[in-house]
Amino acid sequence: VEIHETMYVDGAWVPARSTAALHVIDPFTEQTIAAVPDGTADDIDAAVRAAARAFPAWRHRAVAERSRFILALADEIERRAEVIASIITSENGTPISEARYAPLQAATHLRLVAGLGEQAFADDIRANPLSSGRSLVTRVPLGVAGLITPWNYPLSLIIIKLAPALVAGCTVVIKPAPETPLAARALLDAVDAVGFPAGVVNLVTGGVEAGQALVEHPAVGKISFTGSTGAGRWIGEAAGRLLRPVTLELGGKSPAIVLPDASADVLAANILKVAMRNTGQTCKACTRLIVPESRSAELTELVADVVASAPLGDPTDPSTYFGPVVSRRHRDRVNGYIALGGAEGARAVTGGGLESPRERGFFVQPTVFDRVTPSMRIAQEEIFGPVLSVLTYRDVDEAVHIANDSPYGLAGAVFGEDEDVATAIARRIDSGNIGINHYGSNAAAPFSGHKDSGLGTEFGLEGLGSYLSYTSIHYTS
Ligand code: NAD
Repeated sequence: VEIHETMYVDGAWVPARSTAALHVIDPFTEQTIAAVPDGTADDIDAAVRAAARAFPAWRHRAVAERSRFILALADEIERRAEVIASIITSENGTPISEARYAPLQAATHLRLVAGLGEQAFADDIRANPLSSGRSLVTRVPLGVAGLITPWNYPLSLIIIKLAPALVAGCTVVIKPAPETPLAARALLDAVDAVGFPAGVVNLVTGGVEAGQALVEHPAVGKISFTGSTGAGRWIGEAAGRLLRPVTLELGGKSPAIVLPDASADVLAANILKVAMRNTGQTCKACTRLIVPESRSAELTELVADVVASAPLGDPTDPSTYFGPVVSRRHRDRVNGYIALGGAEGARAVTGGGLESPRERGFFVQPTVFDRVTPSMRIAQEEIFGPVLSVLTYRDVDEAVHIANDSPYGLAGAVFGEDEDVATAIARRIDSGNIGINHYGSNAAAPFSGHKDSGLGTEFGLEGLGSYLSYTSIHYTS
């Protein structure tokens, strides 16, 4: 067991003020693999103060100079890719084939955002329509950014916030999920190796107490949160009270509409990634498959076969598709929904049992339910595990209605042979991200949750803008 007693504050690993520990459990072996400090409000205070001290110098560096640090961090993460991937697999059970993608995705994201800096800060002069004057519109960073993240993609979800915050000129305090502090520590080792100025990037491990202290700290200028809708509501309320800019990326229950002409082969080739990526622990998972009634028997059987034949087991084995879920508690939660599906009258076409498919590890049975109706709880609530509900429609208006009959609006997919027809349907879905015939995502395009899926935007120039405000300077001529 690795015992860590430090946090990364003011440019160095320093002893935590907290004496309490968080235990990291490998969900495949069920063994404790590490302990890290369970940060308190005192630890947050030390980190925020360091970030606030570093802010004036960091924001006044040329953006090109800040971007050079970000590019160096991308290289450093790539150099450590294999170590980081295996940390992710051991702390949350992500299959290694998926975990290996994380450092690559992180490096790509950092490079993309570094390249947006000049554009975001380009000179912008505007004429005044009511006088002969003109105005210089300048962009200014929001100050210390508090970045709070969940466990399902422990590196990527931090990077998505860190890259734009640093390019914008903010300094940051990262508070990762208590289940996955080790990937965050590995990231801070990379930050340390790059040699960022002291205080620009800080890390406090901990749980809700540390998270709340960060949200409410008086010297914080921006909160960016990814996690559950419940926690997001609390943070949104606190931010409202404090008039503090906030970005919230929350839960989902996304639809995938299969149009009458869709190719069964394309659906079969994409359904795992669309619906069950990372053992279903993906905010964007399309866990409501909406199929034409006339094709429901064919498509349900097809999808169930694909799910049943995907290899389940040791997440360190590159051929594994389904690993364990993150924790014992989460396994019990997912199993609660599997039991509920049966009780609500849905039929498990594959899976559906509560017995673990393995003797050891927090495994659940990947499950496909059909005979699901839109009002069932398994069709409305986020399960966050490998559980897919198949619903049927008679005409495409009904398909769109079912797709939008959700408190969430994060993602979606449309399967169909005609791209124009599929695009027209995608435009009618009230979600922030929709893939045509695949799992859609693009770091250069805005990512926004609609309805209960969040507030604000990440990715691309728009995501960078969420760490910036404006100062307009007005001239008489
Ligand atoms: P969670 O909300 O329990 O925790 C997320 C993070 O917030 C953790 O670091 C936690 O310690 C902290 N936290 C919890 N309550 C807090 C509070 N009141 N104040 C401040 N910090 C607080 O979520 P989780 O179980 O770790 O993650 C799963 C959830 O994340 C799912 O709902 C999933 O859909 C969502 N998610 C959303 C996106 C997205 O981009 N929209 C991406 C990934 C995951």
